[in-house]
Amino acid sequence: MAINQSGWRPEMSAKGGETAPTFTGNKALMLEEKLIFEIGSSETTGVEVAEPVAATSRLGDLARTAPIGLPGLSEPETVRHYTRLSRQNYAIDLGLFPLGSCTMKHNPRLNEKMARLPGFADVHPLQPIDTVQGALGVIHQLAHWLVTLTGMHSVAMSPKAGAHGELCGILAIKAALEAKGEGQRRIILVPESAHGTNPATAAFAGFAVEDIPATADGRVDTDALIARLGPDVAGVMITNPNTCGLFERDLKTISDAVHAAGGYVYCDGANFNAIVGRVRPGDLGVDAMHINLHKTFSTPHGGGGPGSGPVVFSERLTAFAPLPFVEEQDGRYELVEEENAGEHHAQSFGRMVAFHGQMGMFTRALTYILSHGADGLRQVAEDAVLNANYVLRSLEDVLDAPFGKAGPCMHEALFSDANLADGFSTLDVAKGLIDEGFHPMTVYFPLVVHGAMLVEPTETESKAALDQFIGALRSVAERAKAGDASLKSAPHFAPRARLDETLAARKPKLVWKEPAPVAQAAE
Ligand SMILES: *Cc1c(COP(=O)(O)O)cnc(C)c1O
Repeated sequence: MAINQSGWRPEMSAKGGETAPTFTGNKALMLEEKLIFEIGSSETTGVEVAEPVAATSRLGDLARTAPIGLPGLSEPETVRHYTRLSRQNYAIDLGLFPLGSCTMKHNPRLNEKMARLPGFADVHPLQPIDTVQGALGVIHQLAHWLVTLTGMHSVAMSPKAGAHGELCGILAIKAALEAKGEGQRRIILVPESAHGTNPATAAFAGFAVEDIPATADGRVDTDALIARLGPDVAGVMITNPNTCGLFERDLKTISDAVHAAGGYVYCDGANFNAIVGRVRPGDLGVDAMHINLHKTFSTPHGGGGPGSGPVVFSERLTAFAPLPFVEEQDGRYELVEEENAGEHHAQSFGRMVAFHGQMGMFTRALTYILSHGADGLRQVAEDAVLNANYVLRSLEDVLDAPFGKAGPCMHEALFSDANLADGFSTLDVAKGLIDEGFHPMTVYFPLVVHGAMLVEPTETESKAALDQFIGALRSVAERAKAGDASLKSAPHFAPRARLDETLAARKPKLVWKEPAPVAQAAE
C-alpha cells in the first residue's frame, strides 16, 4: 500500500471514529469518549450526601416534580472523563499556536504562582479598603506601567476584554462629544482591515460605521480617511500594528487631521505586543486604546476567557473615563467610586463592571512586566517581530505573501491562497496542519486578502520550534500546490474527520436528547 508524503494511508481514514479498527474505537493513546449523559446515570454518584432533614417546602407550585436527571459518575470515572476530553484539545502547553491576531504566547508559571497567593486569590471585592491595600497596590502599580509604556495620561483598569475595552473607549468619546454639545457627530470611520469587534463596538454605542479602504500595500488609505473627516465624524478606530501585521506609519498624520476636524482617535491596541517598549501610542496622538493583558502581557486566554482589557486615555478624555480608579494618597490606596469622585472624575461616563476588574489577570500581568523589566519588554517586541519575519521569509517561496515585497512585517506574517492548485483552498491547508499536530493559523482574516492565512509565532517560540512549524506548513502547502487529493479530506488523524462546517455553524447540536429506545446510537 502506497504511503504518501504525509504518511497517511487510505484505510486509516476513520470518520468520527466509526470505522476505527479497534473494539473500543480507541486508537492507542487517542481515546474515544462519549458524552457524560451517555455514560453517566442518575443512580451513580461520586459523593455521599446525607438524606436531608425533612423540611416544609416554600416552593409551592415551583417545586420540581420529576427527577432532575443529571448524569452521575464515580470519582475516578469523573476524573477520567474530563481528562480524556482534555486530551482531545490543543493547548499552548502542547505546541506552537500560530493563530494570528490572537497572540497566544507562553504563560509563565511564575505568574500563576503569584496569582494564587491567598492574599490575591481569595480577596473579596467588598472587603474593607484597609484589608486590601496590597491588592490595590498591584492594580495601582500595573496602571502606572501601562500609562508609562503607552505614553498616555490615565488608565481605566476595569474592562474585562479587548472588545469591552473598545466599548469603554468609545463611550468615553461619546461622553466627551456630548459634553461639548457635539452629539451630532454620529459617524465612526473604521478601516476595512479592522477586527470585527471595532465596527461592532461603534454600532453598539449608537454610531454609524463607515469603511475606509486599504491601500495596495495593506495600510489604511490616509488620503481617503482625511477626505472623509467633517462635522459629522466622531472619530476613527485604527488598529496599530494593523491586522495585516503592518505598522500604520501615517497614524500621527491621521491623528492630527482627526483632531483638527474635531474628532477623536481610538486605537485598537490588541497588537501592542509588537511595539511595546518601542513605540508609545500617546506620541502618535491616540486618545483611547485598549490593551489586551491576555495577549501582550501573557495572561492565559482561549475559549472565551478570562481576559482583561484596560483602556489608556489621553488628557482630553481622562475626565470621561469610567470609575473606579485606584489612587494613592499619603502611602494609602483609595478606591475612587461614584460617592467620592472628585472633580477629576466628575464627568465620568459611569462604570463598565460591578467591581474593579480581573484581579487574577492584574497579578499575572504585573508579574510578567516586573520579571521582564523595561528592557525585557522592549525585547519582547523585537523578538516577536523577528520571529514573524523569519516565518514570512521562510515560506514566501511556497505561499503567496501579498505584502511581502513592501518590506518587513510586524508581529504576524500574512499569506494568501493565490499559489494553491485549482480546487484547493486555505481551508485545506489549515486542515492539513491539524494532521501535522499544529493548531491551524487564523484563516480568511483579514478580509482584505483573498484566502488569508495569518500566522503569529510570538516571541516565546525558539528557532527550533519555528523551524518545525515552517517545515510542516511548507509540506502541507506543497501538497496543496501539487493537488494532493488526500488533503481535501484532511484531517485524517484527528479524533473527528472533516466536518460539514456550514452545518456545524448553522445547526450546532447544543442539547443532548435521550435517544428513543430503538433509535440508533447518536453521532
Ligand atoms: C483580540 C482582538 C480584539 C478583541 O479582544 P478580546 O479580548 O478578544 O475581546 C480586538 N481587536 C484585535 C485586533 C484583536 O486581535
